[in-house]
Amino acid sequence: MARTCIFCGAKADSYEHIFPDWIDRLIVVEGIEAERFRFESGEVQENRSYMTNRAASQRAKIVCKGCNHGWMSDLASIRQEGELSLVFG
Ligand SMILES: [Zn+2]
Repeated sequence: MARTCIFCGAKADSYEHIFPDWIDRLIVVEGIEAERFRFESGEVQENRSYMTNRAASQRAKIVCKGCNHGWMSDLASIRQEGELSLVFG
């Protein structure tokens, strides 16, 4: 069963960071060398791992490309400046 975009109901065909990408750039954890995750696409199911030292780099296919590259992208660029002022004062 295909997943649907959590916003508009279209096919979820785009990965979105669970945490905003700019947070991932701020949080670097030393000592994390690999993350493992379960990849499932139709009949294909496998475990994958990749090297990272990023704490907030997880993404999920929960939105469609139209939303992700449209209004969500516009909103992310507008909100980033405001969020940074909340973090750093
Ligand atoms: Zn959508």
